[in-house]
Amino acid sequence: MINLYDLSLDELSRLFQEWGQPAYRARQLWEWMYAHKVQNFNEMTNLPKDLRERLETECRLGVMRIAAEQQSSDGTIKRLYQLPDGQYIEAVLMPYEDNRRTACISTQAGCAMGCVFCATGQMGFVRHLTSGEIIEQAINFARMLEAEDERLSNVVLMGMGEPLHNYDATLEAINRLTSPDGLGIGQRHITLSSVGLVPAIRQFADEGLQVKLAISLHAATDEERSALLPINKRWNIETLLDACRYYVEKTGRRITFEWALIAGENDTPEQAEALGQRLQGMLCHVNLIPLNLTGGYAGKPSDPARVEQFRKILERYGVSSTVRVRRGIDIEAGCGQLKAQVIGFDDIS
Ligand code: SAH
Ligand code: SF4
Repeated sequence: MINLYDLSLDELSRLFQEWGQPAYRARQLWEWMYAHKVQNFNEMTNLPKDLRERLETECRLGVMRIAAEQQSSDGTIKRLYQLPDGQYIEAVLMPYEDNRRTACISTQAGCAMGCVFCATGQMGFVRHLTSGEIIEQAINFARMLEAEDERLSNVVLMGMGEPLHNYDATLEAINRLTSPDGLGIGQRHITLSSVGLVPAIRQFADEGLQVKLAISLHAATDEERSALLPINKRWNIETLLDACRYYVEKTGRRITFEWALIAGENDTPEQAEALGQRLQGMLCHVNLIPLNLTGGYAGKPSDPARVEQFRKILERYGVSSTVRVRRGIDIEAGCGQLKAQVIGFDDIS
């Protein structure tokens, strides 16, 4: 069975050509999929019946089953999806007061990077998602919002998995998220978050996109960062920051650095000083996020006074930062700490 959301418009056109369909049919189907987001072939009223029947037997319009859904008191919705091979992934929708509607979507089931404080990392790697599985998470939220006269305005690739480890499928998904005949979300409204796969960051910079890049930094000395993020043993902080400067140079886009504040670990004045020195003068912004608790890691979030002290030190170096509000915290919907097992899908507490 072909998942039609795995295909580009060109690939769909080639398939229809093989089926002996006239060229305009591919675009008709494409509009049903991306503009109208219908879920059944029989709603595609301008396609001939025999074509609809063939589509029905050989193709699928998405593959994911909603296994569970929770809504937080702040309006955040967390969905657990089951994939056709039984794997679970999560996607989160966050409404903001300024009318932004942001989907946080996954690119892999599990993750191979093993960051010690991350629930996904603690699961290990299961498999890459296909481009269709990545985009379906966004399409489903977009359809839901459109039924309420709203629209999906932003997408962050900050769910389960390391997007640059699943480079090709992620890039195809970004293309279909942003193209005017896809979901039509502006490139500047897409954020890709990476743990720091240096060659892939450079390759991504060369794509000529205007997508925002967020880098999970979390520590300003190699010793501390390697203890938290094993990938730092492969590419150290300076190598990573060189690639980040290359991204800024190529795209003109400001980079965001993510920093999960862990009490007594990376929230010390020494770490803040070291970070300020490293980032001074760079076109960047730091997001300070108190750690979300996970089962496999004993660290605790920093208290607010410590967070403020950290922020002030960065300010002295001219490095801007914001303390990020944790969304959907009552349903543990902090992106990156998404839990992939039904048994780990806690009730609203
Ligand atoms: N793999 C990518 C994107 C997914 S993780 C990356 O690492 O950037 C999204 C973000 O959540 C990352 O910044 C990650 O470091 C952060 N994160 C993971 N676990 C967390 C936790 N327990 N508390 C706070 N942030 C966490
Ligand atoms: Fe993977 Fe990102 Fe979690 Fe690290 S923080 S284990 S890279 S999902």
